[in-house]
Order: sequence, then structure tokens, then C-alpha cells
Amino acid sequence: MTEYSELADQLRVRLNDLINRAEVIEDDLRHPLDKDWEEQAIDLADDEALEGVDAVLRNEIQQIRLALLRIENGTYGTCAKCGDEIGLERLKARPVATRCITCA
Ligand SMILES: [Zn+2]
Repeated sequence: MTEYSELADQLRVRLNDLINRAEVIEDDLRHPLDKDWEEQAIDLADDEALEGVDAVLRNEIQQIRLALLRIENGTYGTCAKCGDEIGLERLKARPVATRCITCA
């Protein structure tokens, strides 16, 4: 557990950052459309782009939550496929990795 406490801290910081960004995007999506037709078309295009970003954000938030859960229950750092240890260097580069470099 202590072995990964530094990574857990980094993940928590990243998670907070992502949640803040997701909230900003959601606020943006809730804005009523502009009355002007031309503006409306631009707004719609913007919203679609934001929804795409939102899905990516949500996906990363979910992955980080799962990684933190694995740190808590002691399965973090173990390859989900072969059960080998995932190297610390790999985890530092990609903290949400669930597979070792061989199985990735
Ligand atoms: Zn593996």
C-alpha cells in the first residue's frame, strides 16, 4: 500500500482536476441556445465537441477511480491477464495500467 502512496496521491490530484473540468463542461452544456440562428448552429457544433471531450473525461475519471480502488484493495500493480507484477516504471508512466508490458 505504502509502495503506491505517491502514485495514489498523483491519481487523486488528477481525479480532482478531471472532475473540475467535467463540471465546467457540463455547465457549458446547460447554457440555453442563442436566439440567433447562426449562433445556434455554432453553439450546437460546440456542444457536440464538448460532449466528445466529456466522454473522454468520464472514461479517464472512471479509470482513475478503479486504479485508486485497486490500490485500496491491494490488487494494484498486478497484471489483470497473467498475474505478474506490473513494473513500477510502467505504473509511473501509466498509473491506470491494468496489464503488464508483455500483456498490454
Ligand atoms: Zn501480464
